[in-house]
This record gives sequence, structure tokens and C-alpha cells, in this order.
Amino acid sequence: MELDQFRKHAHELVDWMADYLTHVRDYPVKSQIQPRQILDTLPTQPPTGPESFNEIFQDFQKIILPGMTHWQHPSFFGYFPANSSPPSVLAEMLTATLGAQCMNWQTSPAAAELEERVMQWLREMIGLPSEFTGVIQDTASTATLCSILTAREKLSAYAVNEKGFGADTKFTVYCSTEAHSSVEKAVKIAGLGRENLRKVRVDDQFALDPADLDLAIQRDLKAGYRPLCVVATLGTTGSLALDPIRQIGEICRRHNMWLHVDAAMAGTALILPEFQWIADGLEMADTFVFNPHKWMLTNFDCSAYFVRDKDALLRTFEILPEYLKTPVDSQVNNYRDWGIQLGRRFRALKLWFVIRAYGAGGIQSIVRNHIHMAQSLAAKIQISPNFELLASTPLNLVCFRLHPRYIDDPARLNELNERLERLLNDSGKLFLTHTKLGDAYALRIVIGQTQVRQVDVDLAWEMIQKTSQHL
Ligand SMILES: *Cc1c(COP(=O)(O)O)cnc(C)c1O
Repeated sequence: MELDQFRKHAHELVDWMADYLTHVRDYPVKSQIQPRQILDTLPTQPPTGPESFNEIFQDFQKIILPGMTHWQHPSFFGYFPANSSPPSVLAEMLTATLGAQCMNWQTSPAAAELEERVMQWLREMIGLPSEFTGVIQDTASTATLCSILTAREKLSAYAVNEKGFGADTKFTVYCSTEAHSSVEKAVKIAGLGRENLRKVRVDDQFALDPADLDLAIQRDLKAGYRPLCVVATLGTTGSLALDPIRQIGEICRRHNMWLHVDAAMAGTALILPEFQWIADGLEMADTFVFNPHKWMLTNFDCSAYFVRDKDALLRTFEILPEYLKTPVDSQVNNYRDWGIQLGRRFRALKLWFVIRAYGAGGIQSIVRNHIHMAQSLAAKIQISPNFELLASTPLNLVCFRLHPRYIDDPARLNELNERLERLLNDSGKLFLTHTKLGDAYALRIVIGQTQVRQVDVDLAWEMIQKTSQHL
């Protein structure tokens, strides 16, 4: 493509992008297509000659767009959000245009130094002590894997990296039954063995029960294991339950264990002074992760990973082949050594744009408003005769179900709520997802979309009530 063509199409696309974000609420939230429908529309062979940009873009609109679920729709209440914002998108345009690799300082000095500065800003915004150092990872899953690998190395005196596992490295890892699946994945990848992951019981609020954790550790010690690490969840994926960090931290200290705190979603709430209480004891953690790409207006991917012992992280991941050595290595951050992959995107730019365009205060009011909207919805559900809450709502996730007075059979209730979910999502008017809490099929509404307003939440609640009457 010639650059004069690029200029023309870029202008057209920017207009399309602004129109899309203006009218995103007019699309069905959840894509209405059938499995393999898109695949069958795409030619089985790549084109041999060039095609015009107009043709390509027309097919994007005709084939691709109907096959998208619209995560930036204000009525997207499912999973956890992957919210975004105009300044973040603008930064990504620049990142793609620069097309720089940010593995070493030398390969992109500004990227390295901006990452160091914005991660320091972010650390202060969420109130983490200054012993912590931040680095941007692609996802929380990767950050959790980095943490478990670093724990494995530090507590084996860096032996596993060198020699592989030995008789004295029969490690065990602990998390609650409500922890994210990425913990299990990390344990498997780190070579620790899924059988050595202990899933500890939760209390009636779905938070890790520290007494059960302590018991499990005692049992493993007696059986000759070396308890390595606890992954505490601050805001579980099911219900945003908050594991008691201070009590878990004390147990970790007592047994000389590593503590990783996974706050992928809820970590954003720490930018609000009135929600600092949720992380009581966080200063005892070794590592902490949260995702600005979930609930902080920064488009995927951008996961903020903070470590107390930077040297342990670097010692775990450092590699220094001759072709990567530079004269400034001792003065700068070479982020290739702060994680798994060598090549890195320039992710700090979008975070910088977002924090500057909104200001810390602007982000705070958006997040505060999300929490407020979720809590007032929870209050309405609580007093509604046909619905009930299935978990408390400390932040911006409401877990609830339809429970008509005349139905008490658990299986029938589950089936009823599954049908309600399907009807709502098929309407295209809103999108929500579910989880199992205990044995109950729980519907989840997360309020964290960049554009979501009170009217959207009111409309969703109205739709839910109305649709439930047709079941
Ligand atoms: C979403 C989520 C993750 C996974 O996040 P990715 O960035 O997609 O890897 C991990 N833990 C919790 C608690 C989550 O909610």
C-alpha cells in the first residue's frame, strides 16, 4: 500500500471508529451467528494477487463485524470487562505505527523509561508500598506464572533452573477452590505437578478459609513436602470474593512461603482510598497483579505486575546471549529479563495516555460510579420478591438468581436461570454470564464498561424482570 493510500484509508477508518463507538449500543451485544458460519464464508485459499483496501474493508463490515461480540457495548455485563477508551485506542494507533520491539533499553529507550515511570505512578495510585517494582505483562495468567516460577527459583536457591527438580524440591502450592484457572495452568507449566496444587476450602462468602489453609500446610509438612507458595485472590472471578490477605500473609511468614496476590479485576478498586481496606495486609505479598485491561480504560493487553524482590525476578528469567549485550545494561531496565518472552510491545504508551487524559481523579470517579451502580442494583434485587442475591457485592459484580416463591427444587432453579440467561443473551439487548456458587447457577452482572450509564443498568434490570415472566 502506498503511503498516500494509507493516509486516505486511515482517515476513513478513524471516522468509522468514532462512528462505531458512538453507535455501538445499536449492535446486538452478543454475536448472533452460528458456529463455523464465518469460516464457511471465508475462501479456503489466500488471494494470489493484491486486493483493494475497499474490498477488504467491505468484507470486514459484511463478514467479520456480525461475528463479533461487542465488548465495548454499554450493556456488556458478562465475564469481566475488557474495557477501553479513546485515548487508549489512539495510543495503540501510534504503537502499531512505530512498530517497535521493546525488549531492551537500546531497542526502544523511551519505551523502557516510560514503563518504569508509569508503573511507579500506578503503584502510587493503588497505594502499594515503595518496595514494590512494577513491570507490564501481557496478562494476569502470565504474571501468575512468572510469580510461581520466581517462587520456585528463590525457594530452591535457583536450583531448578540449573539442575531440574531434585529430592528436596517436592513443592506444594495453595489457592482456594474459587481461584482462577490460570493458577492451575501455571502450576502445570512450572513443572510442579497439578497433584501438588491444594485447593483450600472457602467460607460462606467464597473467600479462602485461612484455618483450612493452615491445616493443609501442616498436613503436607508432615508428609515431607515443601510448601512453596499461596496464591490469594483479591476478587475471585466467580463472585469477586476477597481472600483475607493479612491472615494468609501471616501464615506464609510463619512457614517461609511465597505469597502472590491475584487481583486481576478488583485491583483497580484500590485507586479509591475508601476501598484500600480490601487489600489489608498486602504489604506482606511478594508479588501482586491487576489488569488495567479489565477495568481501567486501557485496551487489552496490559497487566500490571508488581514484585517486591526484583533481583529474584531477574535471576529467574535473565538470559544474556552475546548478541543482546549492550554497554548500558547496568544503568537501565532491560524488560526482556522481567518475564517470559523476548519481544515486547510498547504497552506503557496507552497507559500513559489513559492516566494523563483522565487524570487519576477522572479514573477514580468512573470506577466509583461503577461500584455505586452495582450496589444500587444489588439493593433492588435484594428487595425484589422473585429474585435473590447469591453473594455479597463488595465491588461491582452482582451475583443473583431468579427464585420464584413456588419453586424450591435446586435442579429446577438452576434450569430456570440457565434459560433466563439464554433468553436475555439471545435478545442482543444485553449480555451477562453465569457461574456456579456452591451448587447454585448464579447469574453475574459486572458493571465496568467505559460507557455504561445508570439508564443501561436500569434497562437491564427491567429486561431481566420482564423476561423472567415469560419462563
Ligand atoms: C480474568 C482473571 C484472570 C486472567 O486474566 P488474564 O489477564 O486474561 O490472564 C486471572 N485471575 C482472575 C481473578 C481473573 O479475574
